[in-house]
Amino acid sequence: MNRHFRRLLAAASAVAAVAIVTPTAVAAPETASSDVTITSRPTFKMPFECGQKWRGSNWNGHSPAHAIDWNHYDANGNPDDDGRRVFASAGGKVLASYYSTTSGYGNTIVIGHGDGWRTRYAHLKSRGVAKGDTVKVGQRIGRVGASSAIYNISPHLHYEQIHNGSVVVSVVQGVTWEDGLTRYQTSKNRC
Ligand SMILES: [Zn+2]
Repeated sequence: MNRHFRRLLAAASAVAAVAIVTPTAVAAPETASSDVTITSRPTFKMPFECGQKWRGSNWNGHSPAHAIDWNHYDANGNPDDDGRRVFASAGGKVLASYYSTTSGYGNTIVIGHGDGWRTRYAHLKSRGVAKGDTVKVGQRIGRVGASSAIYNISPHLHYEQIHNGSVVVSVVQGVTWEDGLTRYQTSKNRC
């Protein structure tokens, strides 16, 4: 077999392999992501001050799926999220800190935690860290806001846990935020 023909064969089998693998990957993204998450996920804490109680919602139709919107209310039940401090859910490195003009995220921070794990914080009023910064768990990274280039929204924190590029069902302080779940949770970050 000459070298040229061998190269052609290699190219052909690479194409075949991709064609076989792709349907499986598309068919089972959700099962795959929740299977993988159990062993290697960092211990994520709520991204808020110790003792603060926030209402989280992984609501149906949320984009992207599995993300949590966090809201805070005063004693009378009125929203008082605006300007509240946001803290890193776990330690890591800031991979992105930007205002998105092409998505609904507005002011956005993405932190990398290793092993393919990331957290994203969106609609921020202000950003306190820059790309390349190292952050510890509980370090302040910004403030809650309603920034968005696309949507007219009320202040809240949009929060995602991402594994290998896919947003997955979040686990926060041991609570699994299944799709459709809305509940209150109290922060143990910075305690
Ligand atoms: Zn959201």
